[in-house]
Amino acid sequence: MSLHGQLSTLATSDLLIQAKKSTLHTAIRPDIIMERGSGLYVWDTEGKAYLDFIGGWAVNALGHSPAVISEALNEQAARLVNSSPSFYNKPMVEFARLLTEITCFDKVFFTSSGAEANESAIKLARKHGSKNLGSAYEIITLVNGFHGRTLAAMSATGKKQWQLLFEPKVSGFKHVPINDAEALNHAINENTCAVMLELVQGEGGVHSVDADYLKLVRKACDDHGLMLIIDEIQTGIGRTGKMFAYEHYGILADVMTLGKGIGGGFPLAAMLTTETFDIFDAGDQGGTYSGQPLAMAVGLAVVNEVIQRNLPLHAEIQGEYIQERLHQISPIFQLSRIRGKGLLLAFDLPSDKGAELVAECLKEGLLINSPNPNTIRLMPPLVVTKDEIDQMILLLCHALNRVLTN
Ligand SMILES: *Cc1c(COP(=O)(O)O)cnc(C)c1O
Repeated sequence: MSLHGQLSTLATSDLLIQAKKSTLHTAIRPDIIMERGSGLYVWDTEGKAYLDFIGGWAVNALGHSPAVISEALNEQAARLVNSSPSFYNKPMVEFARLLTEITCFDKVFFTSSGAEANESAIKLARKHGSKNLGSAYEIITLVNGFHGRTLAAMSATGKKQWQLLFEPKVSGFKHVPINDAEALNHAINENTCAVMLELVQGEGGVHSVDADYLKLVRKACDDHGLMLIIDEIQTGIGRTGKMFAYEHYGILADVMTLGKGIGGGFPLAAMLTTETFDIFDAGDQGGTYSGQPLAMAVGLAVVNEVIQRNLPLHAEIQGEYIQERLHQISPIFQLSRIRGKGLLLAFDLPSDKGAELVAECLKEGLLINSPNPNTIRLMPPLVVTKDEIDQMILLLCHALNRVLTN
């Protein structure tokens, strides 16, 4: 019998013992084991259902285990699983073409994770600095921004809790507060080669950049010849009610990174840029799984589905409905600062009870996220329905009742 077969006959309690014994402790996880999913729901090994408003961490754009993904995987797996990154393959070409058609960018480089896509952007920015800006190498990013967990992406990330971790960091990153044009202009000097930011900070607690600010960032980049990099790993592929968050702003960037929703749950990410910044030389960047056929087939199927079902519009409409429902219950529980775009939403609690509320919601069978001690973030699959939103509000109210009246 295979090891998988042996384990699958174990009781949940034994699986949990095995999990703690054999996996590296990198996250605090509750004592449940997820087993299957469908649509907005995921079930654990005890058969308990959870309504998923974390959406696989803003990843499962089409919900859990959608048929389009299993069909694309099956079809491609039978045809070609891997041909090495040194050859083009058919779904890679088709997918790159689709992405250049639906964005303002001309060129795509594929990776498996968001952090790698941002690494690619950081390397491209440094290439630009060394080629065009007299060896400038510094990248300005935002306080509370999040760009991933590789060492360079961590160094780009403006998270306070990470400031002293894994020193020395990759040098060459400067963090400035969001929506502060003066701080940005002050930070630019002859060493600067790029500005990198999220249009809506996801992990930071759902904070949007202002349109006026972004206009000034674009102007500063133009004035100094800097590359403007937007990290749309969380906001891209319909999440904010537009296909890409930059469509809310009417500003064009030089580089965009995508991840999360682009694979609908399959590990896939991408860096896109313009003809102007097609400046890597062969060998500058690569990766064993860059353009991996299975990932390409899934990405192609997911993005086509998002387009065909007009899920960005659906996300906008459902997002407005969630905000409306949250406003209805906010006076009862003193919820404040209901914010966000499309289906990337957050609100603040009257006290630092985020973790407690997440735990109570889990008991209720509802998955939500607390990025900061007093903040709750919602990022359900783009296919969420009004009934599911009503159900979420009901479960949330039960949990809020218990947590906030204690
Ligand atoms: C999740 C995320 C990343 C990192 O993506 P990984 O796939 O976890 O490496 C980077 N930037 C933003 C904005 C993200 O939300």
